[in-house]
Amino acid sequence: MKKQKSAKRRKGKKKVSRKNWVRVVRKRLIESAKKAQKHSYCPYSRYPVGAAVIAESGRLYTGCNVENASFGLACCAERTAIFNAVSHGEKKIRAIAIVAKSAKPCGACRQVILEFALKDAELIYVDWQPLEKKEKVTYTKASKILPKPFNPSEAGL
Ligand SMILES: [Zn+2]
Repeated sequence: MKKQKSAKRRKGKKKVSRKNWVRVVRKRLIESAKKAQKHSYCPYSRYPVGAAVIAESGRLYTGCNVENASFGLACCAERTAIFNAVSHGEKKIRAIAIVAKSAKPCGACRQVILEFALKDAELIYVDWQPLEKKEKVTYTKASKILPKPFNPSEAGL
């Protein structure tokens, strides 16, 4: 009886389509980045940013921007999320979501994203204004975010 039940369950289980999987992962990334944004330490700029990356392993890591009274020491949410992933043993990322008002990575973050992005890694920009509950989501590929990036192999590194 038990065997039949599990066989029936397996039979009834729908195969997750790639399209549906992508939709679920994107939603999870965006929600995680929004949660991370709430932890932003931005007393100077008052510009909270959250980011979430999904690593090659499938694990998810988040980050937020962390400012400092010595302004040059601030770190962006994108780099914080990627460094969080790397500090957990990850070396490649499949996608990154960035949440902020007019969310776009700075030049330094673009170079760091390219260092760890898989060839077809996706960037998800989420222009999120929590007070107005307005959200605009834009998708692009990591390969398109920085023309002529610093290339370690060309530099002999
Ligand atoms: Zn940045």
